[in-house]
Amino acid sequence: MSRSPRVIVIGAGVAGITTAHVLIRRGFTDVTILEKGSAAGGVWHWNRYPGLTCDVPSNLYQFGFAPKPDWERMFATGPQIKAYLNDVIDELGLRSRIELNAEVTSAVFNDGEWTVTLADGRVFVADFVVMATGVLHNPQVPDIPGLDTFTGPVVHSARWDDTVETRGRRIAVIGSGSTGVQLVTALQREADRIVHFSRTPQWVMWAPMDRRQPRLVTALLTRFPALRTGLYQTLLSGSGFLADIATTPSWRRRAVQQYARLSLRAQVRDRADRAALTPDYEPMCKRQVLSGGYYRAIQASNAEVVDTPIVSVTPDGIITDDGVVHPLDMIVLATGFRAHDYMRPMDLRGRDGVRIDDVWADGPRAYRMSAIPGFPNLFTTLGPNSPTGSISLQYTAERTAEFIAGWLDRFATGEFDTVEVTDEATDDFLAAANSAMVPTVWATGCDSWYLTPAGDVDLWPYDRATLTAMLAEHRDDHFRFSRTSELAESGDDR
Ligand code: NAP
Repeated sequence: MSRSPRVIVIGAGVAGITTAHVLIRRGFTDVTILEKGSAAGGVWHWNRYPGLTCDVPSNLYQFGFAPKPDWERMFATGPQIKAYLNDVIDELGLRSRIELNAEVTSAVFNDGEWTVTLADGRVFVADFVVMATGVLHNPQVPDIPGLDTFTGPVVHSARWDDTVETRGRRIAVIGSGSTGVQLVTALQREADRIVHFSRTPQWVMWAPMDRRQPRLVTALLTRFPALRTGLYQTLLSGSGFLADIATTPSWRRRAVQQYARLSLRAQVRDRADRAALTPDYEPMCKRQVLSGGYYRAIQASNAEVVDTPIVSVTPDGIITDDGVVHPLDMIVLATGFRAHDYMRPMDLRGRDGVRIDDVWADGPRAYRMSAIPGFPNLFTTLGPNSPTGSISLQYTAERTAEFIAGWLDRFATGEFDTVEVTDEATDDFLAAANSAMVPTVWATGCDSWYLTPAGDVDLWPYDRATLTAMLAEHRDDHFRFSRTSELAESGDDR
């Protein structure tokens, strides 16, 4: 017998595009992608602040199944990546499967199927739901007294307002992660004054972020598709270095950390400035920031870095703890994301009405990034513990989608009606992951968005081979199965 599972994928970013493509490639035809935004692209749709650039080389930050020969730059800008993702959607014929402006407000499992409801009242019913909702989606807006009294624009980096004029303005950028560094570097050029409020300095490694891809490289990659694939595979293998230095203390890690220190020393000559910009934790403990121009920007005559804590905001400025009033026309919040919210806010209810908000009260908890106990026939692509910053996310998403497709194959043949990971297997996976996390650079003593409310590091502590192996197998002893129908006997050909 054979039946065709009805699949809903939530999110049309890197994870959702990959999942949909792989499932269709594996022969599943009833696949619908629900996307809350007005366009596809995920983070590359939501983020469009000035200076937005991907800090992963373009020839690696792409799908293995759709390598692009003609990247304009070695590190692509946000708009270039969004355009690439949309080109891939068209080339793979996924466009007609994507419902835009389709915000899922609830997903409820009942009687062996999922009922997915949108904010506009539309309802979808599916056998399987794949959450491809991303990590860095919900903006974190700081609770600073008086922020709502500021009379100029207040903009979060992930909800940029294109109508706001930045030229000739006195601008505050709050936050010194990758986003704050990119924003300060971009806005400084035309601002009247830029004040970077940097509560905790970050290590900023120099990298040639604005270099163009050489014409010869583009010509060769365009002319010879095998070169394209070869370059991608080489970069993918080479990126194993990242996982190695992040997960294993060694001279290689120390050498990269020295490079971070050198980047600061070579670019900031003033001792006092350098001292103020020197973090008190190890390089790479937080997500490493790369920039080719940040240190130049903050040493310009119209720029200032303020590390004194912010006390309050007034209608026309910011007051810091030392009593200084910083007059401003505009405040940019580069204050990051509520990284562990994943698919929320969403009323997600699994078996016996169990709610995600309850089972994840202390932070996300999933098996091998992809399955959650209590939630049958639901998977996550780039879910908890995904290897942000150490292994290609496109590669990870593709392996996860293949893992999911394997379950769909077995559902299609009538082997089971519902599949659900067990609590025990999830606990075992997380216990092992947490102990593997101990020697990683992320656990060397800094506060970062990697840490869950329970204090665990929400990342992947292993290498790519381990990730591949874990997603290549179906351990039936880690799952429980149910059969609610007699489909196998009746030969339903849905
Ligand atoms: P982030 O790394 O979480 O940084 C948030 C910043 O805001 C931190 O400096 C934090 O200070 C500060 N902050 C938060 N609340 C504050 C408050 N109340 N007062 C003062 N400062 C406050 O966020 P992000 O820069 O948006 O980056 C998030 C992630 O997005 C990155 O790590 C990266 O993975 C990704 N990203 C990637 C790229 C790319 O090129 N691929 C570009 C941008 C972002 P503390 O450190 O003191 O908490």
